[in-house]
Amino acid sequence: MKVPFGDLKTHYRTIQKEIDGAVARVLSSGHYILGPELERFERDFEAYLGSPYVIGCASGTEAIYLALAACEIGPGDEVIVVAHTAVPTISAISMTGATPVFVDIDSATYVMDAGEVEQRVTPKTKAIIPVHLYGQMADLDLLRKVALKHKLFLIEDVAQATGATYKGLGKAGTFGDFGAFSFYPSKNLGAFGDGGAVCTNSRESFERLVMLRNYGQSKRYYHDTVGINSRLDEIQAAILGAQLPLVESWNERRRQIAKRYTEGLKSSVVTPVESSHSSHVYHLYVIQAANRDGLQEFLLERGIQTLIHYPNPAHLQKAYSYLGYKPGDLPVTEYATKRILSLPMFPQLTDSQIDFVIENIREYQDKNANRVAEQQGFAMAKPEIPHR
Ligand SMILES: *Cc1c(COP(=O)(O)O)cnc(C)c1O
Repeated sequence: MKVPFGDLKTHYRTIQKEIDGAVARVLSSGHYILGPELERFERDFEAYLGSPYVIGCASGTEAIYLALAACEIGPGDEVIVVAHTAVPTISAISMTGATPVFVDIDSATYVMDAGEVEQRVTPKTKAIIPVHLYGQMADLDLLRKVALKHKLFLIEDVAQATGATYKGLGKAGTFGDFGAFSFYPSKNLGAFGDGGAVCTNSRESFERLVMLRNYGQSKRYYHDTVGINSRLDEIQAAILGAQLPLVESWNERRRQIAKRYTEGLKSSVVTPVESSHSSHVYHLYVIQAANRDGLQEFLLERGIQTLIHYPNPAHLQKAYSYLGYKPGDLPVTEYATKRILSLPMFPQLTDSQIDFVIENIREYQDKNANRVAEQQGFAMAKPEIPHR
């Protein structure tokens, strides 16, 4: 049996009629940029999120960039963020000229350690970007308190958590000043190409975002601000609109898959911890194993594809060496980096594929039983955060 990490071809086959219909409709309309499909998707996504304002844009990276630009964040400003994320979160900060300031993650849930944020605030700090990693949300109550106290913008990176809810009160993205979404094809709501969106509660911010994504124009050929070209095109908007009604059922299937994995694996590896404040939409199902590399190799030999999200944290990437971080600066992040493994996770995964993954992991771990004991003693005391 082969178990791929993801399977977008199968995904397409299950909704081919809707997608083909949406694409054909746009092609024959003659309207390809900033037209009625985008307008409709933006209003539908607002209703889905329970947010008053959504703008579509060209990618998740630019969604974060546009939110920062709407706050007029730029050179000399600092933005507090995690290093345990997809590097585009950090690229978006760099694109503004601002400086990323890294904080560590919570060792159980892998999201921003909200308790660490305040000690990173300086007079230059302008914003905090929590990343709702793997599909589960950061501690927004605490982050909102810190943001309010120090007058900082809160920008949620929701790229991996479309549809997650916080304390049953509302959807991810609607708690900060801005929520930034990615519609990269493999995300929980994915385009058939690149795409992104920003939501906000503020009419004024919305109007700025509308200009910023379209060359800074207030009306045609009148440029009130320096903008970029970052638009969600009509084909992608129509494709996203066709899929939006299905996201909740896909997220539910992801949760079922996670439950089956956890039942089968909880005595063999460290399985995901679901936080009490956030629902989990399992963009990724991430386990920990001390012998991670050996396990990954073994699974590949058995036809099971796995990935590591992420093997090299942002603060240790070559591109960010100018920031001056060194190994040991973010101990929880670096510890996780060496042990995490993402298992196949997509709504069309079958129960027999899940069981095949479970059997193989158990087989490998049983052969390495001495190491399992070590993993179960994982309840790691939080290491002292070094002063920089
Ligand atoms: C995918 C992703 C992004 C980037 O989105 P793109 O649409 O690929 O630009 C940013 N942050 C996180 C956490 C992501 O997973």
